[in-house]
Amino acid sequence: MPVFQDTQQVMLGYSEFLSHLGKCKFSDCQHINEPQCAIKNAVDKNIIQPARYQSYLENIQEVKNS
Ligand SMILES: [Zn+2]
Repeated sequence: MPVFQDTQQVMLGYSEFLSHLGKCKFSDCQHINEPQCAIKNAVDKNIIQPARYQSYLENIQEVKNS
C-alpha cells in the first residue's frame, strides 16, 4: 500500500483538518514541510491547535517508519 494511503488514514483521525484539505498548493501534500500548506497556515493562525498538529506529525512519522 502506498504511503499516501496511510497518511490519508491518519488524516481522517483529525476531523478539524478536513475542512482545510484541498487548499494546499500540492494535491498530494502531507502537511509536514511543504510550502503553502493550508494545514500549516491554519496552525499558524491558531485555527488548528498546535498540539493537535504535533500529534498528527508524530502519527505520520510512525506511518512512514513502519
Ligand atoms: Zn498541506
